[in-house]
Amino acid sequence: MKWNEAVLSLKSYQPGKSTDEVKKMYGLEKIVKLASNENPFGCSEKVKESIKNATHSFAIYPDGYATSLRKVVANHTGVKETQLIFGNGSDENIQIISRSLLGAGKNTVMATGTFSQYRHNATLEGAEIREVPHIDGAHDLDGMLKAIDGNTSVIWICTPNNPTGKYIPEPDLIAFLEKVPEDVLVVLDEAYSEYAVAEDYPRTNQWINKYKNLIILRTFSKIYGLASFRVGYGLADEDIIQKLDPSREPFNVNTFGQKIAVVALEDQSFIEKCRTENQKGLQQYYEFCDAENLAYYPSQGNFIFIHFKHDADVVFQYLLERGYIARSGKSFGFPNSVRVTIGSTEENEGMIRTIKSFLNEVALPSNSLY
Ligand SMILES: *Cc1c(COP(=O)(O)O)cnc(C)c1O
Repeated sequence: MKWNEAVLSLKSYQPGKSTDEVKKMYGLEKIVKLASNENPFGCSEKVKESIKNATHSFAIYPDGYATSLRKVVANHTGVKETQLIFGNGSDENIQIISRSLLGAGKNTVMATGTFSQYRHNATLEGAEIREVPHIDGAHDLDGMLKAIDGNTSVIWICTPNNPTGKYIPEPDLIAFLEKVPEDVLVVLDEAYSEYAVAEDYPRTNQWINKYKNLIILRTFSKIYGLASFRVGYGLADEDIIQKLDPSREPFNVNTFGQKIAVVALEDQSFIEKCRTENQKGLQQYYEFCDAENLAYYPSQGNFIFIHFKHDADVVFQYLLERGYIARSGKSFGFPNSVRVTIGSTEENEGMIRTIKSFLNEVALPSNSLY
């Protein structure tokens, strides 16, 4: 058959093993999954209540314009309803952007070691990918600017960056946006912005009124704890939204996702609690890593990227066999680093204990003469 060449060059996304699979494989009773940056506290109790009481007709298509959710998100973010696009998760918004702006003869700029879907979608569209290595886990913004040429159509910025957890301070991001040519779309993926607490982490909503080549992506999958419902949104100038919209499937966000995201957004006290707990969890890891001389990047997300002196897959496998699922950094281009999602205090303690036993059992003997 006459497959597109790009399709044949790609593999399916490899999701983490399911907890049931891991339980069976290693005869474990309990699995702690800290692999996909999901919220260890689940979602707001109010959301759970509203799911119980849901009485929507399954036979009716969703509202393609996401009218109610659009109103609430516009109100929450302080932008106009016409400055929003909704996706079946940020994943779909990344796909919509790629379909609309990438293709053969164009190129797209991104960091090495960032969210995998930028590259995946760019490959599908047949665009040339220009990856710029990080500097100490942070985007090299000057390097990325230099990579832009007349055929660049999209530049991807992830802050806090998945998997490194590094963020771009406000002045640096503004200086960067000032220099990007006006005909290059800047995608600012802020999937973890609600977790960020750094004072110079920028609050960017209103920037779309100034930078007409900026789209900001947010999601309900991470701090809101609604990954299974698949709801994400983008903020951008009306003209961008209008031009992207035809690439969106007409009924892309399901009815339950729309209703439940509204309830989730209205319970900001849950979000605050999760942000505070996440800071405590990060502190647990910082103290442990410092004490063990393990290198890591300080994180503004709900995950920490720890650098071992060992093959990341070996560390991953050791943890897996003991019931702790993390994410090897190999696929991100970091062969010795492991990304761990911040869990509850107890989950973090368990993960830390297991990493410590790895260091004692595996890491040390191989480095010592005894
Ligand atoms: C998880 C994640 C997404 C995808 O979010 P969905 O809304 O679940 O599709 C997008 N960008 C980054 C950086 C992520 O980590």
